[in-house]
Amino acid sequence: MIVAKFGGSSLSDSEQFLKVREILRSDPARRYVIPSAPGRRHSADHKITDLLYRCHDLAQAIGSESREAIDHAREYERIFSEIRRRFLDIASALELNVDLEGELDNIERRIPQEPTADYAASRGEYLNGLLLSALMGWAFIDPAHCVWFRDDGTFDSERTQLECAHALLTHEYAVIPGFYGNMPDGTIRTFSRGGSDVTGAIVARAADADLYENWTDVSGFLTADPRIVKNPRRIEQITYRELRELSYMGATVLHEDAIFPVRKAGIPINIRNTNEPEHPGTLILPHAQGEPLAGITGIAGRKGFAIIVIEKAMMNAELGFGRRVLQAVEECGISFEHLPTGIDTMCVVLHKEALDKARERLITRIYELTEPDSIEIHEDMALIATVGRGMVRQRGIASRLFDALSEAHVNVRMIDQGSSELNIIVGVSSQDFDKAVRAIYGTFIDESGGDVH
Ligand code: ADP
Ligand code: ASP
Ligand code: MG
Repeated sequence: MIVAKFGGSSLSDSEQFLKVREILRSDPARRYVIPSAPGRRHSADHKITDLLYRCHDLAQAIGSESREAIDHAREYERIFSEIRRRFLDIASALELNVDLEGELDNIERRIPQEPTADYAASRGEYLNGLLLSALMGWAFIDPAHCVWFRDDGTFDSERTQLECAHALLTHEYAVIPGFYGNMPDGTIRTFSRGGSDVTGAIVARAADADLYENWTDVSGFLTADPRIVKNPRRIEQITYRELRELSYMGATVLHEDAIFPVRKAGIPINIRNTNEPEHPGTLILPHAQGEPLAGITGIAGRKGFAIIVIEKAMMNAELGFGRRVLQAVEECGISFEHLPTGIDTMCVVLHKEALDKARERLITRIYELTEPDSIEIHEDMALIATVGRGMVRQRGIASRLFDALSEAHVNVRMIDQGSSELNIIVGVSSQDFDKAVRAIYGTFIDESGGDVH
């Protein structure tokens, strides 16, 4: 039995809906389907979820008698009618019998009454779920009744597993919208962006599926981001651990938390392309077969980091130095990403956004708690992870990596090799990011790998 999740681009208009119907009909083992909200139809288009977030923001800004409030109200109406049009177009092209106008009127009225953005954001998946359920003639299961969060906003996996498994039992075929669930007080809550992947994994576990298919707009997990490297090679098989490293570090094709529910149950994930359904895509498994030749499975990275370099002579001999640095970070409510250390230096790598919110306080507290010789901050850093289960058994990988970066004139500011020997992470200046990814790709995966621009 297969659980299939379809991303936004796979359900962006009526033609895409028909491709999805074909895929579902072609194998009766595909019994539970998780839709996202309609995504972009072309590069200049808007994702429905982005429009819904915008509606929430505008609705918050209405409320006063000012001139801007009237403008915001008009803009709210305009954007909501764009959303309305998108859904009505799909329903009429497919001749679906759903009371969409009634649902849309209700949502348009309710968004301004909701204190958080989650209700608004979740409606794209909700409405797409109604449409897909009508198209297939399958039951509609609202995750507001079976996907649960706790009072503190964290996902409640045990309650969800019980209630989802129970809800699925009564339906042989069903549509369950992605991205959202419920709080104990009955309000809607969403996962973070891209979270329909997480719902798909939750449903796969609850259904005890043999396979979790994740249908998107690329034919599998690629060895590098196709927006940076031209035609990157596909990864045929990858382990859960490698995938977690790559998706956490920016390979956005699968949400970084989608691994956990299926890993628990040992269910493989198959990344597939809705626009090329015969293609086998990528299989994500507990243990993959074989190893890539150069030992490297893939490369991923993100911009938006900062590195704080704290220097103090003899810091290594000072008991509790590291703890005091981390105490300052913790007091500022920041969680750090990496912590490379030298004899007299310690670096804290964190998200630039988190640093910007607490910069002065953090630096003051580090000075007070550790009395360093100096503190330096490198802003606008990018981190790049080179990941591979074959790394442990190959010599010279680090030296090849640094040779490639040096030949490309990229200055490496930070190095961190996880103790698992699955991953080497380098920190480079954001402006060198694309160049660095291409240099690493060219060295390990494909010499002809080039620029996309
Ligand atoms: P969906 O809407 O189907 O969930 P996403 O936009 O979330 O799709 O993810 C698919 C996109 O992820 C691709 O179009 C591609 O641009 C991007 N991407 C980034 N890194 C990778 C990678 N390593 N392999 C495949 N796609 C990647
Ligand atoms: N529609 C949501 C988003 O845009 C969730 C998803 O696509 O997975 O983030
Ligand atoms: Mg996605």
